[in-house]
Amino acid sequence: MYEKINVDLMHNSGIRMVDLRSDTLSKPTMEMREAMYSAPVGDDVYGEDPTVTELEKRAAVLLGKEEAVFVASGTMANLIAIMVHCNQRGSEIISGDYGHTFKFEQGGTAQIAGVHTAVIKNNEDGTFNIEDLRKKIRKNPDFHEPISSLIIVENTHNLCGGKVLPLEWLEKVHNVAQEHKLPVHMDGARMMNAAVYLDVPPSRIVKDVDSVCFCLSKGLGCPVGAILAGSSEFIAKARRVRKAIGGGWRQAGIIAAAGIVALDKMIDRLKEDHIHAYQIAKAIYATSSKNFRVDLQTVQTNMVLMYINKMKIDIKELQRRLQTVLKTDSVKCSVRCMSLNHDCVRFTLYWEISDEDVAIACEKIQLVIREYDAMYLNGVA
Ligand SMILES: *Cc1c(COP(=O)(O)O)cnc(C)c1O
Repeated sequence: MYEKINVDLMHNSGIRMVDLRSDTLSKPTMEMREAMYSAPVGDDVYGEDPTVTELEKRAAVLLGKEEAVFVASGTMANLIAIMVHCNQRGSEIISGDYGHTFKFEQGGTAQIAGVHTAVIKNNEDGTFNIEDLRKKIRKNPDFHEPISSLIIVENTHNLCGGKVLPLEWLEKVHNVAQEHKLPVHMDGARMMNAAVYLDVPPSRIVKDVDSVCFCLSKGLGCPVGAILAGSSEFIAKARRVRKAIGGGWRQAGIIAAAGIVALDKMIDRLKEDHIHAYQIAKAIYATSSKNFRVDLQTVQTNMVLMYINKMKIDIKELQRRLQTVLKTDSVKCSVRCMSLNHDCVRFTLYWEISDEDVAIACEKIQLVIREYDAMYLNGVA
């Protein structure tokens, strides 16, 4: 999925590179770099880094939670949350089968936390069925069974293409969790995109969950970092676990400084990325291709999923063609994207992708789609 493709550009001059593989590629803004340069720092393991403390305080307020802790990555935040919520042996979490903690974190839930995962089939919109959730919760487990200890939801949903979880659905999950006295954790790596999409404060998105994490290093542009938030009691335990897994850091204010800039300046502008994503989706849709498909209704945030006819099109070859600029090509643009599930590529937007980048990337994508369509119309393949 993260495989590097050998770029075979004919000549470098005059070719615009538009890298849409992931928003993790975004680099810190000049303002972040300046803030990092002059940030007051101290030893954060001693609780003495004023910049980290300020970032954590601001993040907690923004999320409407008692406290927050600054950690190295979204993966670390999720792992810590799981270890704090599931502090007894034989614990089980309940997650969607497309969930990031289940699919992509190397099974850290099992490998490191020693926690079992029960999965529910994810719907296309990133939710799962509430009745299925009820069935997965083990009431009065006997000694054959693990103990249901945590429910995880993901917002926006990565593998579902940046889908925003409906607030009413989150409330239903919360109600079921309450009935069974289970906590809910939101893997909100891109929850700020959800807040911008719904045009509500971030605290509203996380009102119905006990803990939440979000990445500073994705659409928000920071070089490193994530925030984990919850009750004071939860965060005190999270700080202990963070230290045990090697996440206690010293003058981390250098990177926390970028996080403060992100909270101030990078959230509202996410709507530009959403507009850009929609422009790309519309460009794909406009080709009326029979081999490439996009569902306009489902493009909500900064991602576009383009489904391909996998009987005819090899996904690696498609990626290579999007990336290559031939001498004969009328559009001088190299586009990179990520492949998902063998039948779909993902285009992801972030702050450095400009209006001009999007315009030329749309032309390139259309050029490649038309080329494939023409090839299959003429019966070449
Ligand atoms: C990226 C991502 C993570 C992991 O974040 P890292 O900072 O890359 O470790 C977790 N959950 C979701 C939904 C993500 O998209």
